[in-house]
Amino acid sequence: MARLLITGGAGFIGSHTCVVLLDAGHDLTVLDDFSNSAPVALQRVAELAGVQLRSGSGSGRLQLIEGDIRDDGALNQLFATASAKGEPLSGVIHFAGLKAVGESVQDPLRYWDVNVNGTRALLAAMESHGCHTLVFSSSATLYGSPNQVPIPESAPVQPINPYGHTKAAVERMLHDLSAAAPDHWRIACLRYFNPVGAHPSGRIGEAPNGIPNNLFPYLCQVAVQRRPELSVFGGDWPTPDGTCIRDYIHVMDLADGHRAALETLVSEPPQVLTLNLGSGQGASVLEVIHAFEEASGRTIPFTISERRPGDAAVTVADPTAAWQRLSWRTQRSLAEICRDGWIWQQGNPEGYDLDAEAA
Ligand code: NAD
Ligand code: UDP
Repeated sequence: MARLLITGGAGFIGSHTCVVLLDAGHDLTVLDDFSNSAPVALQRVAELAGVQLRSGSGSGRLQLIEGDIRDDGALNQLFATASAKGEPLSGVIHFAGLKAVGESVQDPLRYWDVNVNGTRALLAAMESHGCHTLVFSSSATLYGSPNQVPIPESAPVQPINPYGHTKAAVERMLHDLSAAAPDHWRIACLRYFNPVGAHPSGRIGEAPNGIPNNLFPYLCQVAVQRRPELSVFGGDWPTPDGTCIRDYIHVMDLADGHRAALETLVSEPPQVLTLNLGSGQGASVLEVIHAFEEASGRTIPFTISERRPGDAAVTVADPTAAWQRLSWRTQRSLAEICRDGWIWQQGNPEGYDLDAEAA
């Protein structure tokens, strides 16, 4: 089975996808600069998949290279070394990037540099080394405040923050690249809705730095009493219970979606596939709180506060195209999301224990 490059493979979605891909028989090279993750996540991926993690120039089923996607020289060396060893990289799953909406408003140039310039550098290296298969982490954030729910892929791309603009720009770049060499490129732009939960073992999960921006990790930290209470951003939205509705997708379903996208790309003629990855089911903030209370047996203290600027009332995927094109759809319920997220949070109340595991 071919070797794949996984950029950002130590991160939340990347680490879960590595487990699924290793289980499916792929050999992986992870490139990560650990700006928002740590090598221990990959040690645990290796443990879950029953393989050895090898750093630097060693190969093996799971190889780790510490580096930055913006470093053209390092990327070229990585592709060249893999070919020289007789294990050319046949495809890339590109997770590496920055993802905090608020931070992107404060520091837009950094977001354009990492997300757009970093992807440009990656694509240039792929092109020079004859690697033309790419799965890209796009985001439902590029729909902005949608006019239509559930949201089909044909909905207008109208981001409302710099993070969303960088995702839209990369999608544009990928279409331009494919138009220039339509017989070569096999590309999937996967527009994720709200990835949450954790591997059911509780060994890998989401470990945000500092105060979480997102609902689910915040909720998990309230449940283990790292934070006193949750603020629910707005109780006067035009929804049945007054709180915002989102499409939460179990990270293991999302990981399976990447495997399905890759398999479809390699078995079909070159193309650009653009697909929503979501469940098609909406849950309100209050419904998520109650499902989490049920799964954890803990009470989640919360107060209703002001609306958060930039939020949309309802964001739910139309997942029909992913089912038609990939034969993929979500398998795991909100109750399973909460169960697995709780197992992870209970076992790792402070996230990954970096000191213990570095020793
Ligand atoms: P994450 O921060 O956990 O993972 C990203 C990984 O990329 C981290 O390991 C980080 O260290 C690495 N990285 C960042 N900049 C890098 C660079 N310049 N060079 C090399 N590595 C670098 O994030 P995630 O939640 O796993 O998201 C993965 C991708 O999915 C991102 O592109 C994100 O924009 C996209 N996405 C995430 C969500 C979400 O809610 N989590 C939703 C939609 C899209
Ligand atoms: N939210 C909340 N309190 C929080 C974080 C988020 O009420 O501390 C709400 C937020 O307003 C949105 C939903 O939870 O309606 C999901 O937000 P999140 O940031 O997780 O994802 P988004 O859909 O904004 O990408």
